[in-house]
Parts: sequence; structure tokens; C-alpha cells
Amino acid sequence: MSRGPLSGIHVIVAGAGLAGLAAAHALARTGARVTVVEARNRVGGRVHTSRRGFAARQHAEAGGDIIEPGQTAVLALARELRLQTVPILKQGFGYYGPTASGRLAVQVLERTMAPVARELARLVDLYRLSEQRWDTAIAMTLGRMSVAEWLARVKAPAWTLARFRGLRGLFLADPEELSLLALIDFLSTDPFDDDAGPARRIVGGNDRLATTIARSLRRRPLLETVLRRVRQRDDRVVATVDGPGGRAEIEADYLVCTLPAGTLRDVSFEPALPETQAQAIRSLRYGPATRVLLQFERRFWTKAGRPNAFGSDRPHGAVWDGNEEQRGPAAILSVLAGGGASSELSAILSDEGIAGLVERLAWLGRPTALLQSHVVRWEEDPWARGGYAVFDTTFDPRLRDLLARPFGRVLFAGEHTHIRWQGYMNGAVESGQRAATEIELLHLCQFSRRS
Ligand SMILES: Cc1cc2nc3c(=O)[nH]c(=O)nc-3n(C[C@H](O)[C@H](O)[C@H](O)COP(=O)(O)OP(=O)(O)OC[C@H]3O[C@@H](n4cnc5c(N)ncnc54)[C@H](O)[C@@H]3O)c2cc1C
Repeated sequence: MSRGPLSGIHVIVAGAGLAGLAAAHALARTGARVTVVEARNRVGGRVHTSRRGFAARQHAEAGGDIIEPGQTAVLALARELRLQTVPILKQGFGYYGPTASGRLAVQVLERTMAPVARELARLVDLYRLSEQRWDTAIAMTLGRMSVAEWLARVKAPAWTLARFRGLRGLFLADPEELSLLALIDFLSTDPFDDDAGPARRIVGGNDRLATTIARSLRRRPLLETVLRRVRQRDDRVVATVDGPGGRAEIEADYLVCTLPAGTLRDVSFEPALPETQAQAIRSLRYGPATRVLLQFERRFWTKAGRPNAFGSDRPHGAVWDGNEEQRGPAAILSVLAGGGASSELSAILSDEGIAGLVERLAWLGRPTALLQSHVVRWEEDPWARGGYAVFDTTFDPRLRDLLARPFGRVLFAGEHTHIRWQGYMNGAVESGQRAATEIELLHLCQFSRRS
């Protein structure tokens, strides 16, 4: 048996996405016995590298793709697992959409917010004054107002609304749904920090983060095993799961729950979660997101002095080079239609097929022959039910902290529980590591109370 502060302790980890696997990895190092249960037939969750049928053994990311330089927990984990990363999209993002005169053109993304920059800066200052807390009157006020309502209130020129709609590839929500609080929170963290260096990807696929951890665990994750119920009694946790062998109960000392809120709602807790915490989980929405990976015979979207990545208010959503780090000449273009664009793009795909999408991308250059395509609609994925969490105007900001609040011997993790990196791989990894540390400390407290 391995030695360490948690040796002799059994922990169930529900969910084998990055949060669950980061927790399992950290717990295993402390000597805990770890059982990971995962509903899908693969690990990685919303990190899903697609290798399906692409020519020349190429691949691209259907889920989490871009690792910004600030994602230090992901980058450190990759180093620890001896996975290489490669710089991508060195020229950052541009924007494609209507100009002030209504003409569709490629523009500089940072100027998207120029007409309302002063008003936004004032709100960022106010938000910083409130220590970026979500339980203040400032946060409550910003949380109730949509970005579209605010633009109307400050009498922003009509075309600025289209520019903010271009951010739906990032927020997975249109300005009519997205709360002003979510926008200001994002802006207050200096998101367009180009000096920090280029974004990166994991060589061979981002899912190698997940598969490498899963392989290293003493007990491999139990796949196709769905968590249904969590009971806590005395000093034990009992998880009821449905797996390939039928229904079973797994008993442990602690449970780390990394399920997205949309599926967590279906798990029953005994005793029940505190009402406000249950309400936080119930009311959190996930943004629709359709990813389309298009493999072409040749890269047709590169142009000197122009980025390889664009936000857009168009129905196709954001587009960027999906595999510049791989050998050509074939190349994959990644399309991410978030928020309302997800259903707009789906309508195009069902009415006109992939050709309808390719036609709409001709502003990038003249398309070469299409070799392969792969469409993933995350809102239809039963174990995600959306791309990632969205703070819209219906979510009470005071409930946010409750998403990460421990409940007895149950610890919660996942991108939706993270404050700074919600919606990113880094939020998943750090929250999993946080939950593992919480167990270590809870156990230490128990031990010192008993002795
Ligand atoms: C289209 C898209 C694009 C993205 N782009 C980026 C990006 O460019 N950069 C970035 O940093 N992040 C990006 N993200 C976000 C990033 O992928 C996620 O934040 C992160 O992967 C979430 O990890 P997680 O462990 O919290 O959740 P998940 O990966 O969802 O893991 C939870 C796991 O729980 C399992 N599960 C659910 N219900 C049950 C149950 N009842 N029983 C057992 N198991 C269950 C699920 O199958 C899943 O494997 C993107 C996400 C999407 C969808």
C-alpha cells in the first residue's frame, strides 16, 4: 500500500473530465485509494480530440482547444505528465462582421468595444472597488442587466450590438442573455493580454492530458458508470451507480463530484443538499455550442498580416485554424458556433448541408476541396448538456460561491465552480486539485480531533 497523508482512505471521484482526473491524480499521490466513475465510454469529458476519419492521421479539438498562457495549472500538469505543448494562433483573434457602415469586413478585435470603452472602464473600476465579489449591490445590479439592455441604456451605436454578438463564440450566450456582470468580470481580468505570449495546444491532442492520467491510476476509471445517488451517513459516503454490470453501491470516505450542473441536478443526495446550494445547481445554465471541424485539401485561410482566428456575429460563429501544428498539406478549420449561433448553424447544416457552411466561409479565401467534417452539438450531449456554464440574467450572483461549497464528505469541482477560470480547462484542473487538497485537510482535521 502506498504511503502518504491519505493512505488507507478511499475516495470516489465522479466524472473523468479534467477536473475529476486532476483530483484523482492529486489524491493518488497522497496515497488515497481512488475510484473514478464516468458515464461515457471514454475519459476527457468536454476535452474531446477528434481523430475520426481525418486524412493524413490529423486531428483537431471538438471541445476544449486553446490553452492561453495564463492557464498555468494546465501547462504545469502537461509538463508533469511529460506532454509537449506547441504555440498556436500567434497573431491572436481578429473579428469578422459589419463595420459602422454595415459592410462585412475583417476588423481588429480589440476595437470591438471601442464605442463604449469609457463606460465599460467605469464599470470595471466599480467592480474592482467591490473586490470583484458577487454578493454586493454592485454585482447584483450588474447581474440583473443583460449586455444588450446596457448597450441600449448607454445609447451605444446600433452596430456595436453586432460586435458584442461576436463574443458569443467565447461566452456561449448572446448579448440579450449574457449578464453585464459576466462581461465586466471577464474584462476585469485583462483578457486581451498579448504580452503574455501565444496560446498553446498539447502535441498529439489535448485529450492526452486525460488519457495519460487515466493510464497512470492504479485502478482505471470505471467507464459507462453513471452516478445516481449519494448517501452520507456517519463517516461514510455511499454512491449508487449504474454500470455495465447493473446497479451497484460503492462505499468510501469522501466523494469528489465534478459533474456539470446540468447532470448533477439528476443525482439525489441523502441528506438533501441545502436548498440554496440546490438552487444554485438548478439555476445554472449552459451555453449552446456547435463545433464543426472541416478538413480541407489545403489551408486557404492564411493571409500575410492577418490572424488565423476570428470572432464573428455571423451564424457560423468563431473560426480558427484547428491544426496549424500538424503536418500538411491538408488542414483543419475549426468552427465554434456559440449561443444563438449554435441553432442558426444547425439550421444551415440541416437545410443546405456542410456545403452551406463552407460557402459562408468564403470571406476567408477560396475554399479548397473538403476532405472530411465532424459536427458536435454539445447541448445535445447527455453528459454535458451545453458547452460550459453561462452566467445569464436569471442567475442570482449571490449563489455562485455555493457551486463549490463542500457538503459533509462531498466536495464539488468542475469548470463551473472556478472563479477566475470558469469555462476553461484551467478552471477544471485547478478545481480538481483544490478538491483533493480539501480532502487532505478535512482528513487532517478529523485525525487531530480524534487524537
Ligand atoms: C465546444 C467547447 C469549446 C471549448 N473551448 C475551450 C478552449 O478553447 N479553452 C479552454 O480552456 N476551455 C475550453 N472549453 C472548456 C473546457 O473544455 C471545460 O471547461 C473543461 O473541459 C471542463 O472540464 P470538467 O472536468 O469541469 O467537466 P467535464 O469535462 O464535462 O467532465 C465531467 C465528466 O462527468 C461525466 N458525467 C456527467 N454526468 C455523470 C454522471 N451522472 N455519472 C458519471 N459521470 C458523469 C461526464 O461524462 C464528463 O466526462 C471548451 C468547451 C467546449 C464544450
